[in-house]
Amino acid sequence: SCSSASSDSAVSTESAPPASVGPFTVVLLGDSGVGKSALASIFAGASDSMGSECELYGGEVFEQTITVDGERATVTLLDTWDSQDEGSWTHERCLQTGDAFIIVYAITDRSSFLRAADLRMQLRRQHEADRTPIILVGNKCDLVRCREVSISEGRSSAAVFDCKFIETSAAMQHNVWPLFEGIIRQLRLRRDSTDS
Ligand code: GDP
Ligand code: MG
Repeated sequence: SCSSASSDSAVSTESAPPASVGPFTVVLLGDSGVGKSALASIFAGASDSMGSECELYGGEVFEQTITVDGERATVTLLDTWDSQDEGSWTHERCLQTGDAFIIVYAITDRSSFLRAADLRMQLRRQHEADRTPIILVGNKCDLVRCREVSISEGRSSAAVFDCKFIETSAAMQHNVWPLFEGIIRQLRLRRDSTDS
């Protein structure tokens, strides 16, 4: 259940790097404690990325260029959701900013799952006309004995709102790159369908 890419299309060639697309701004949303920062730090740890405290956003901003299906894409990942009360960056502006959104809940915490559904409704309201990619993420899937939200509940909740869905474990580094690759594929699909 990892990446769906065929083996040859996912190969990256170091010799003649094509121009990268982006940067795409991807925003992490979800309750405090669900693992947003843990996911962001895996993203940031891929190479010498510039992870930095960003005063404008009042949180962490990471930029990374990664190769997916032979094409490079630059992603700016915002992990700013939890620190917003302190900054001038309001929740509303955060919801307007992204090219794509990752809504995270913890499979061990049903209230975070309900909060995720609420966030999806807010996002859909703000991005009604466009097809802004949203992916619902059930994190902490390593904690099987503390599970409060089943896979099928997560999957059907995502289907209701026309989102992609994936379960991850930041702790085990399971499905974390398929998550980011999936977001990039969705952003490209949207780009390719809006370019005429
Ligand atoms: P945030 O508030 O959403 O940014 O959540 P954090 O990334 O700070 O994570 C909150 C806590 O959950 C930390 O103690 C993490 O170590 C832990 N955590 C994050 N992801 C996972 C995971 O996939 N599995 C487990 N077991 N713990 C996790
Ligand atoms: Mg955090």
